[in-house]
Amino acid sequence: MVNKTAWQDLRSTFDPQGITLVAVSKTRPAEDIHALYESGHRDFGENYVQELVEKQQQLPGDIRWHFIGHLQTNKVKQIAPFVQLIHSVDRLKLLAEIDKHAKNSDRMIDVLLQIYIAEEETKFGLDEKEVIHLLDHYAGGSYRNVRIRGVMGMASFSEDEQQVRAEFKRLHDVFRNLQQTYFLGKGYFDICSMGMSGDYKIAVEEGSTMVRIGSLLFGARTPSV
Ligand SMILES: *Cc1c(COP(=O)(O)O)cnc(C)c1O
Repeated sequence: MVNKTAWQDLRSTFDPQGITLVAVSKTRPAEDIHALYESGHRDFGENYVQELVEKQQQLPGDIRWHFIGHLQTNKVKQIAPFVQLIHSVDRLKLLAEIDKHAKNSDRMIDVLLQIYIAEEETKFGLDEKEVIHLLDHYAGGSYRNVRIRGVMGMASFSEDEQQVRAEFKRLHDVFRNLQQTYFLGKGYFDICSMGMSGDYKIAVEEGSTMVRIGSLLFGARTPSV
């Protein structure tokens, strides 16, 4: 099921603001993706490597595939030849592995650093110390086939709007600080990926430039993942 009215509403809100809508299609059949593709949508997000690879083979070649889930180093190779943007770099070892396979595929791969902002213990991501550690290595210049485009984060799954807002605010502060320290004058560091179906309005108010939305477009997932 695809909710095209919701899609049109979201696009007409985001397009004028220059916000990219990533349609999160994990667990959805290829037909649903194709239906949105036919309407003109190109950015789709997936969480699982196997599923992404299968869908990429079945669907049109000009789809921009975003990888948004936790990524194991031994699976990077499978998506390196085609992935548009990896949102979930949360350790140096993964960055090095992406660089290696990007080079083998003769590509430059764009990535985001996943930052830990939620109070919940279960979410992946770098804390502020780890980000600095990673960027100090990156600034050394040995990763030539990977380009850090910005940050990604997930707020707590909470009804408390003030808490969610504070978490997004923190992520946006990290984004701005990194822009002004490690990426000064580098215009490509311009993506702050935050906001999902339940909290994208708050994320946009706090400066999101890319939202990742699944359930609003494709209906509720069962079981919820
Ligand atoms: C599943 C998922 C989304 C989309 O969630 P919805 O609530 O369905 O919009 C966004 N980002 C990440 C990282 C996800 O895993």
